[in-house]
Amino acid sequence: MRLRVLFLFLGVLILTAFLMPQFSLAADEGNSKISKEEVPQIVKIFVKDKFDVAKLANMGLDLPEVKHKNKYVISVITESELKKVSSLGYKYKVVNDDADSVLRATRAGTLSKYHTFDQIEKILKDAEANNPSICKLHVIGKSCEGRPVYALNIASHAAGAKKPAVLIMGLTHAREWISAEVPTALIEEILQKYPVDKTMKELVDSRSIWVVPVANPDGLVYSQAKSKMWRKNRRANSDKSFGVDLNRNYGYQWGTVGASTYTGSDTYHGVGPFSEPCSTAVKQLAEREKFRATVSFHSYSELVLFPFGYAYEAVAKDEQLLAELAKGIAKFNGYTPEKSSDLYPAMGDSDDWFYGAMGALAFTIELGSQFVPNDNEVDKINADNVKSCLFLIEKAGNVHASNHPDFASKVQRAISTFAFYSATSDARANTSKTELINILNPVNDNDGKVFDEFILEVEKSDLNSKKMLAPVLKEVKDMYTQNIINKLGNTRQVIRDIEKLQIELEKVEEK
Ligand SMILES: [Zn+2]
Repeated sequence: MRLRVLFLFLGVLILTAFLMPQFSLAADEGNSKISKEEVPQIVKIFVKDKFDVAKLANMGLDLPEVKHKNKYVISVITESELKKVSSLGYKYKVVNDDADSVLRATRAGTLSKYHTFDQIEKILKDAEANNPSICKLHVIGKSCEGRPVYALNIASHAAGAKKPAVLIMGLTHAREWISAEVPTALIEEILQKYPVDKTMKELVDSRSIWVVPVANPDGLVYSQAKSKMWRKNRRANSDKSFGVDLNRNYGYQWGTVGASTYTGSDTYHGVGPFSEPCSTAVKQLAEREKFRATVSFHSYSELVLFPFGYAYEAVAKDEQLLAELAKGIAKFNGYTPEKSSDLYPAMGDSDDWFYGAMGALAFTIELGSQFVPNDNEVDKINADNVKSCLFLIEKAGNVHASNHPDFASKVQRAISTFAFYSATSDARANTSKTELINILNPVNDNDGKVFDEFILEVEKSDLNSKKMLAPVLKEVKDMYTQNIINKLGNTRQVIRDIEKLQIELEKVEEK
């Protein structure tokens, strides 16, 4: 008896000893992960002006709250980042030294309104199963960890003319859970009303509505299960850190302003434009569907943002239309409409690409006044923003961006394609330049009308596009000079126009 107890005791001892190193290894791994990803803090940083804000964004900080008038920003920040901020002379105040605790506490019982990825997956599958005549569920790609990226297409699929397509997207950033709720609520609202509400039926029958409620499935799962304040996707970077900021990974003006080359940063932009499967999935969908309008939901700050975002001085050709629509959207949710870069410039976000490269009227809606609003706020946020979406879906039938592929002229398309590939250092930049020059060749442009349009387009372009177009202009000039010899068209006037434009571009170059 005693012997048996002794054996049992020894057995447990040996087993414990055997297991201990693994236990401690697991704990170490956990700790080192935490210290590597670091417990985030919520910090209020005081700023003098917009350049102070831009400097912080360029350090790779996410700034969910930017209060230019009150001269502060709120950032979710690690200890080492905070040290750097402080060493640069910024004053700050820690609002919460354990940002995850905000979500941990609320998750303990009060955040029942929020869906998990699995629950949203079920809602989408049920939507298709119960409404086969107007719903088709697509898997548009797979995440880094192999989860499907779902897109639900709501449209009556009767044959006929191509219908204006609109994209409503949510949860690009992991911790912004509310941003998956509004697209989900939109689906439910449409499907509930379609059979009984004449206006809704007419709207759906005349549009192609695409809803991607979770653009970053790995991030959502990780944020809800492990690290509540996680922002990026779950890409395993080469240095063993994790995550790329999907909203810095889009290919129009992809770069380092308001984005980071440091893998550990919250705004790490990835190894190249569209390096991530989730942003690529959205890109391919957009290239196929040619959306007239898009909304990407984020949280927080109660804003309706419109392009461009990549530079203070970048002006969208359709800025007036974008601003008007943003105002219209804001009527329903009560938010503040604002040009994206007025907050702070950031390169590689989805709106700049949707608008700049794809000719979609693109908006980002920053929901609520915290990353994960309280349960009692969710219904109102959903209801208001579903209305905002329906407003834009309706508008998309009547208005369009000047560079939308269904409407833009040959030369407009050629310019924007060339500018897009050049900006993203894509190998296709050369082919698209040749195509543009071909269109402008006086042999193909007898009456010079294409050239006149080209000149107008160059004049309207933003600074960066102008710089890119300067060498094209030179080649076109050479062609026309050759043309004098061949005595074709009103060549001398064209050359004078080009020379005028070249002088302007040189001034731009000097700035
Ligand atoms: Zn976001």
